[in-house]
Amino acid sequence: AALPQRISHAALAWAERTPDAPALFDGAQEWSYRRLAQAVGSAAAQLKRLGVVGGDRVMVVCENGLAAVTLILAASECDAWPVIVNARLSEREIDGIRDHCQPRRVFYTDTVSHEAAAHAARHGAEPLGDPDLPPMAVGPLLDAEPEPVHAGNQRQVGALIYTSGTTGKPKGVMLSHRGLLFVASVSGWMRGLGPNDRTYGVLPVSHVFGLASTCLGTLYAGGCLHTVPRFAPAAVWQALEQDGVTVFQGVPAMYAKLVEHATVTSRTPTAPALRYLSSGGSVLDLDLKLAVERVFGLPLHNGYGLTECSPTVTQTRLDAPRGDTSIGPALPLVEMRFVDHVTGLDVASGEPGELWVCAPNVMLGYYREPALTAQVITDDGWLKTGDVARLEPDGCVAVVGRIREIVIRSGFNVYPEEVEGVLTSHPAVTLAAVVGHAVAGNEEVVAFVQFIPGQSASEEDLKAWAAERLAPYKRPSRIVAMDALPASPTGKLLKSGLRALAAEVMAV
Ligand code: ATP
Repeated sequence: AALPQRISHAALAWAERTPDAPALFDGAQEWSYRRLAQAVGSAAAQLKRLGVVGGDRVMVVCENGLAAVTLILAASECDAWPVIVNARLSEREIDGIRDHCQPRRVFYTDTVSHEAAAHAARHGAEPLGDPDLPPMAVGPLLDAEPEPVHAGNQRQVGALIYTSGTTGKPKGVMLSHRGLLFVASVSGWMRGLGPNDRTYGVLPVSHVFGLASTCLGTLYAGGCLHTVPRFAPAAVWQALEQDGVTVFQGVPAMYAKLVEHATVTSRTPTAPALRYLSSGGSVLDLDLKLAVERVFGLPLHNGYGLTECSPTVTQTRLDAPRGDTSIGPALPLVEMRFVDHVTGLDVASGEPGELWVCAPNVMLGYYREPALTAQVITDDGWLKTGDVARLEPDGCVAVVGRIREIVIRSGFNVYPEEVEGVLTSHPAVTLAAVVGHAVAGNEEVVAFVQFIPGQSASEEDLKAWAAERLAPYKRPSRIVAMDALPASPTGKLLKSGLRALAAEVMAV
């Protein structure tokens, strides 16, 4: 079989090599690669009958499942752009994406959440009713202008993914087939993925980490993807014990819940086949990493990326697990620079600077936002990540913080990540979020914390804890406890809401 040239080929190539091997498992049905190829073929034929042409956007409002994977690959077979949208977004957010990308059709998978179901009903979606396909609904034919179709995979859009918008309005990130396949193959190879692997796929395919690394990575390697719509710690432990899962990829918030579940039920779960664990998507806390390693009895690997890089930039090496929270070396063919964001010059080796990346997996641009694209991609093709990082002497990278989140207190840079790390190291605290609040030409540091269930600490205690560990300018003026910190579907803290709350807290 030919080597994959578009994302659908990652899976379809195995329908020729190992047609009977398992490709997808949704907890009830297991599809072989032959069955997956048949479903993708039927769905691609349906898309064409429904008026989809090359260069069209096809919106897939989904939770993980057989239908979501089938639709994404089928859109790719038609040279259309799958616009993969998390069904747990609000109706208004789904509308925002629909208005922005102007799709030919909107599909909804059967398991979609309340908001997505309401969106489907309001837009007159109807069940598709194809016996070869899992249940799904499709909205009416819309006026849409197809984008040009490029012959090579380098410039052809393989997926349009909207960022989670933790720092602003979501942006439509155009990812090429080349970039997505690059990450699927190289990051899979770095994890040693092969046909005998079974990956627990609970990261949403609407997020590029779940799409490229977990889903396409597993299919590219000819393994079996357990496609799981919602994260539930008990279900994860059960799958690890009974379903032969070999690889688990999650975000730190998931690991925190898994550790908590193991602690609360005070049993040591077994995971006989599990061989690889990795975290990515946001800052990994050292205490959490150590707790995970104790509970699972395996090293926890760390990877760093962003939607704009399809997403993986660095990943710790399989043969060199780390005892710290380093994000590992760059993937092969990924070039990095560390740049002073004021002068625009490279910093001295080992100093913190904005991480710039030049690589096959860098996005083609923000859809319909050329000015925004020009702000983040230089004329010679370097992507400015917006993250501050440092190159260690061994070639591994350490994340220091995000430029847009830096709090400037009395002229000093405060990286919220550092303060959050100190607060979460307190025995009663499970999560912390730090934001800046502007007062009289200066910024105050305001922290929000969430306690481990059944535990708590006073603001004075927490302030004393911080004072012992942080320079005075980094210490929070207020530390406010919340029942639950606001988070995105992948567990990222949504700081925009917290900034407004910080203003209220500081006004008191
Ligand atoms: P938006 O760009 O709209 O604000 P977002 O930042 O949530 O949304 P993503 O692309 O999902 O968009 O997130 C990428 C960011 O997550 C990176 O820029 C980095 O700040 C952070 N990140 C990802 N992985 C790691 C990691 N292993 N360690 C520390 N930070 C990480």
